[in-house]
Amino acid sequence: MSQARFTSCIPLPLEQKTLVGVIEKAKDWALMHGVGMRDKKNFTKDAIQIAPFVLLPSPFPRTEFNKAVELQQVLNKLMHKVAHDDDFLEHTLQNALQVDEFTAKLFEIWVKVRKEGIAQPVSLGMLRSDIMLESRCPHTENQCAKHTPYCSWKQVEINSIASGFGHLGPVSREIQSYILRQLGCGHLIKNMPENKALSGLCSGIIEAYDLFGVPGSVALFVVEEVSYNICDQRFHEFEISERRPDIIIYRKTLNEIFEETALNDKKQLMLDDKVVAVVYYRSGYEPAQYPSQKEWDARLRVERSTAIKCPSIHYQLAGTKKVQQALAAPGALEQFLGAGAISGRVRDIFTGLYSLDFDDSGERAVEMALADAERFVLKPQREGGGNNLYGADIREALLKMRHSRERAAYILMERISPPLVPGYVVRPGGAVPPPVTDLVSELGIFGVIIGSKDKIYSNRQVGHMLRTKLADANEGGVAAGLGALDSPYLLDL
Ligand code: ADP
Ligand code: MG
Repeated sequence: MSQARFTSCIPLPLEQKTLVGVIEKAKDWALMHGVGMRDKKNFTKDAIQIAPFVLLPSPFPRTEFNKAVELQQVLNKLMHKVAHDDDFLEHTLQNALQVDEFTAKLFEIWVKVRKEGIAQPVSLGMLRSDIMLESRCPHTENQCAKHTPYCSWKQVEINSIASGFGHLGPVSREIQSYILRQLGCGHLIKNMPENKALSGLCSGIIEAYDLFGVPGSVALFVVEEVSYNICDQRFHEFEISERRPDIIIYRKTLNEIFEETALNDKKQLMLDDKVVAVVYYRSGYEPAQYPSQKEWDARLRVERSTAIKCPSIHYQLAGTKKVQQALAAPGALEQFLGAGAISGRVRDIFTGLYSLDFDDSGERAVEMALADAERFVLKPQREGGGNNLYGADIREALLKMRHSRERAAYILMERISPPLVPGYVVRPGGAVPPPVTDLVSELGIFGVIIGSKDKIYSNRQVGHMLRTKLADANEGGVAAGLGALDSPYLLDL
């Protein structure tokens, strides 16, 4: 089975002079419209540099794109239900908790807050479901002729905390539209789906703020010590400020929250004598973001408060890899979505997901991975990129931890093999013109859901983002410098 291939929306290579000219224009467009990031090597708050981007939009089958968009509300609801099912979360995470300190600490906060009584039953979910097209079709050629050159899309993961690219997603469409116009191909823009992710995500924050309903209250963004992905975060603030000048937004690190906030006797989170209505985490998803007990105490304080959290801690737990794997087990989806067709539609997007618990199926998974490591990805309970293992590293890790409890903190996932697309990646400080390289893409669909255990106030699909990386790279984080911003060019196959 060779990997399938799409052709670019414009025949490549472009003529050298045209290419150099359009890249120069595009870089300036990027800098002047926030297609940027802070420079990790020469950090200064006084400058941003271009974020890596793909020059032309990448082909994506229209039917698959539409299917992903249509399924998002179902996935939102699924996550919402999972987050509110105490028994399921507890049962699913129990083995991982024994060996994964980070997940255990999150879990501990959740247990403590539940015991005390939840002060804010409403949660704001701003989710992103990440997917890839699977081009290695498991069916026979006859059965699957209509599917070539891809089979269908599969879910990589669902993010329930700090799901980025609400700004960078839509603006990638804009910069590539500008580039297409400069190349005399403006007529192709009609194949690039509209993308209102920023506005849709900000509507979620505004709606939660209004639901909180305390005039003069504020919104709090929880941020890292240093935000490299600053454009993506600030544009949320600009958008909200324009639409709702009455909502003042604070940006604070967990350490600053520890130092500067307090709970009053009504369990309101107070900051500068103002009540915090909504807390939106752009940090807090990995251990390094909790360097001391203070950060954990800050997290507990927020969780105890009446503020509407995005995400509440049980939503963060619902977004763990272990939960994703448990949902793929027989009967699990039906428990949340019923026995009808909807569960089948969600099951279709799962690729093989296996637990590494100490039981028969865990043993079988270990054997399978040792026999053919290239077929899999080994994932710990982590978010944020750069934590998964591939190929030879899977073998090495499994041989080392085969008989240790540690392995229960990992899941094994079948590796998805998306179709290749040739393209140009423009990077800060990169060669101009760049070479034509083989790329693969990962589509993220954004969803917003607001509700309590018993009542859902809003449930929407709100936009998308596309990240593209070199075909031979394992991971494609844009902030990590591996991936590049992109947007889909819909194909009618
Ligand atoms: P994280 O929470 O760290 O983002 P992910 O599960 O999203 O973890 O994995 C990170 C990256 O690894 C993905 O963006 C994708 O590029 C790659 N990846 C993850 N799972 C798979 C898979 N099953 N097949 C192919 N690539 C994968
Ligand atoms: Mg991811």
